[in-house]
Amino acid sequence: MTEQLNPFKIAQAQLDKAAEKLNLDSQMHAFLREPMRELSVSIPVKMDDGSTKTFKGFRIQYNDARGPTKGGIRFHPQETIDTVRALSAWMTWKCAVADIPFGGSKGGIICDTKQMSQGEIERLSRGYIDQIWSFIGPEKDIPAPDVYTNPQIMAWMMDEYSKIRGHNVPGIITGKPIPLGGSLGRGDATAMGVVYTIREAAKVLGIDLKGATVAIQGYGNAGYHLARLLTNQGCKIIAVTDSKGGISREDGLDWKATKEHKDRTGSVIGYPGTKQLTNEECLAVKCDFLVPAALENQITGKNASNIKAKIVAEAANGPVTPEADEILYKRGVFQIPDFLCNAGGVTVSYFEWVQNIYGYYWSEEEVYERLDKKMTKAFYDVYEMAKKEDVDNRTAAYMVAVNRVAEAVKLRGWI
Ligand code: NAD
Repeated sequence: MTEQLNPFKIAQAQLDKAAEKLNLDSQMHAFLREPMRELSVSIPVKMDDGSTKTFKGFRIQYNDARGPTKGGIRFHPQETIDTVRALSAWMTWKCAVADIPFGGSKGGIICDTKQMSQGEIERLSRGYIDQIWSFIGPEKDIPAPDVYTNPQIMAWMMDEYSKIRGHNVPGIITGKPIPLGGSLGRGDATAMGVVYTIREAAKVLGIDLKGATVAIQGYGNAGYHLARLLTNQGCKIIAVTDSKGGISREDGLDWKATKEHKDRTGSVIGYPGTKQLTNEECLAVKCDFLVPAALENQITGKNASNIKAKIVAEAANGPVTPEADEILYKRGVFQIPDFLCNAGGVTVSYFEWVQNIYGYYWSEEEVYERLDKKMTKAFYDVYEMAKKEDVDNRTAAYMVAVNRVAEAVKLRGWI
C-alpha cells in the first residue's frame, strides 16, 4: 500500500488514533478534525521591474477554544493549503500540550524568496497584512516566523498592522527584533526546548548526556542552535546535513566551524576532515539522539527500520509518518513527538506576547528558567500518559492535548 503523505490527512489520522484511545465523543471528534476558519487571499505586489505579480496566501485558524490562535507564517514555493491546515492543527495540539493559553493557527504564502529582492519581500509582507489584518489581532490570532520568514519580516508586518490600526501594536506578532519588543531568548528558544526534552528523555532512559552521540538532519536555525547547545551539554555531534547532503566525523564536529563553512560555501559539505554522507545515510547513523530538524515526511515506512538511534527528537514539524511511527515504536525507539519536542519556540512567543502586553521585559535567564519549567512539565505530562495508557509518546501527547482542548470546547458550551 502506498503511504499517505498528505500532511493534513496525517494530522487527522494521528488525531483519530488518540480519539479512539480517549473514547472521545463522536461529535467532539468530528469538530476537532477540521479547522474552524480558513482565509485564502490574493496579494498583488509591485515587482522591481515595474510589473505586478499576484501571490496566493492563506491564514487558517484551527481552534480557538483555549485562547487566541497562534501560529507562524511560511513563505514557500511548494506551500499548499493542506500543509497549512496540518500545521495549524499541530499548533493547536502544541499550545495545549505546552499548556499555554492559545489555540492554533498557521499562515503561508506561495512564493520563492530566493528569487525576490528585499524590496519585493517587504511589499509582499505588507500586502499580506493588508489582506488579512481584520482576521488577526493580539486577542484573536497572533502570527510568528516559520520557514523562510524572519524577524525583519515580522517587523514589517507589525509596522503595517500598526499603521492600519493607527497606533503601535507590538502584541500582533511575535519573533520581532528585540528593539521592537522581541523577547530575549527567542532566537534559540526552539532548540533550547528540544534540549530540555532530550535531557529529560535521556534521564528516564539512563543515558548520560556527557559523551552522548548526536546526528542532526537540517543545519538551519533549529539545527545549528541545537548543535551548539548540545555541545555545551557535553554531547558529541557526529553527523549533520542540509538540503544538499551532509558530513560526519566520529570524534565530533565543531558546530561553529561547520556553521561558518555552511555560511561561506552554502552547504556543510566539504568541511575539511569529514566524511560525506547523504540525508538517508544520516538518518541511519548509529547514535544516541537523532534529530530531524528539516522538513516533513523524512522518516517513512521505507527507512524507519534503518534507524539506529535510541531517541528520535523531532525538532521539525511532521518529520515521521504514521507508518514509520509504528515501526519505531515496535523497535523500542523513544520518540519525542514534534509538537512536544519543538514547543519551545511557541512558548517563548507566548512569553514575548505577555511582555508586549505588560510593556515590561524579562532577562534572558528569566526566559530560559520559565521555558525549562514549561517544557519539563510538558515532557512528564506526556511520559506519564504514555506509561499509564501503554501507548506510544505521540499518541500520549495527542491524548494530553486533545483532552485539554475538548475540555475547553465543552466548558464554552460549543458541544
Ligand atoms: P531553516 O529554513 O532555518 O532550516 C532548514 C534546514 O533544513 C536548512 O539547513 C536546509 O538546508 C535543510 N533542509 C532542507 N531540506 C532538507 C532535506 N531534504 N534534507 C536535509 N536537510 C534539508 O528552518 P528552521 O527554522 O530551522 O525549521 C526547521 C524545522 O523546524 C521545520 O520543520 C520547522 O517547521 C520546525 N520548527 C522551527 C521552529 C523555529 O522556531 N525555527 C519552531 C518550531 C518548529
